[in-house]
Amino acid sequence: LANLRLQQQARELTELSHNDALTGLRNRRYFETTLAAEYQRGSRHQYPLSLLIVDIDFFKRVNDAHGHLVGDLCLRHVALEIRGQFLRSQDTVARLGGEEFVIVLPGLDRVEGARLANNLLNHIRSRPFVHDGICEALTVSIGGACTTALPRGNPAELLNQADQALYQAKRGGRNQVVWSAY
Ligand code: GH3
Ligand code: MG
Ligand code: MG
Repeated sequence: LANLRLQQQARELTELSHNDALTGLRNRRYFETTLAAEYQRGSRHQYPLSLLIVDIDFFKRVNDAHGHLVGDLCLRHVALEIRGQFLRSQDTVARLGGEEFVIVLPGLDRVEGARLANNLLNHIRSRPFVHDGICEALTVSIGGACTTALPRGNPAELLNQADQALYQAKRGGRNQVVWSAY
């Protein structure tokens, strides 16, 4: 019995070390491991892999207006809405940190990845955060990149390209998807 309980506890710890405590999404560490593995698998079997980075626009305002605790609830709201848009078992949705999320989409090329990114953008825009008499409209900016543009690239490079695209989306006025040109 004691042994069973230890096994159960070990399982719970593993689960915790893979998930983000606030949102329940995968955490950054899990994401990095998965990205490396999926990248390898994709190049071995010659299928594409798309990556999206999602950052909430002007999130600081939510904290400033309603406090950090409400800000946390807002992050959970956005996390759940993102999660609900990616339900294939092979997709990974993680919180990178702060108000930034990442989605790994094995097998999806640039066209399919960009379509899902636009769907997500519209979905978040249609789901304001409602809590205790508060209603906050939210938008996100999304940067996307796909391995097909990087025949001899690596996971870090893919992440970097999605991040550059996200930066362009912010600079371009936010509330938009930018796909890496590479
Ligand atoms: P931008 O459109 O440029 O992304 O603006 P922004 O305000 O979303 O971005 P900025 O990086 O200036 O601020 C991010 C804010 O996110 C600041 C920080 O207080 C908040 N934040 C980061 N992590 C957490 C968290 O775990 N909980 C809460 N409540 N807020 C967080
Ligand atoms: Mg932000
Ligand atoms: Mg940010």
